[in-house]
Amino acid sequence: MIIDCRDQRTYFTDFINGELDYRKTKALLNHVSGCAACSADLKSRYLFISGMRAGTEAFPEYEKMIAQVTSKCRKEGILRTLYGMAGVVILFMIFYFLSGLIFI
Ligand SMILES: [Zn+2]
Repeated sequence: MIIDCRDQRTYFTDFINGELDYRKTKALLNHVSGCAACSADLKSRYLFISGMRAGTEAFPEYEKMIAQVTSKCRKEGILRTLYGMAGVVILFMIFYFLSGLIFI
């Protein structure tokens, strides 16, 4: 899959505001980590926004913010995998239960 820089850049403001969903956040982090141009652009956008709101909100340093979001995203990924596995187990149990009812 080719990720378009222009697509990613439309999400920058939402990303900085913490309003991007898990999948888009993950895609954006993946892209930015491999794209120097977008990484620089995101950083300058972040510095601009955090500078404008410096009086009202606390913004961590850019690198720290990226590290925080990356770790949050990784945790959510693990949780989603676990929930997915739990879902499969539950489906299997339901199937097992129903087939027990049918075949016994
Ligand atoms: Zn890019």
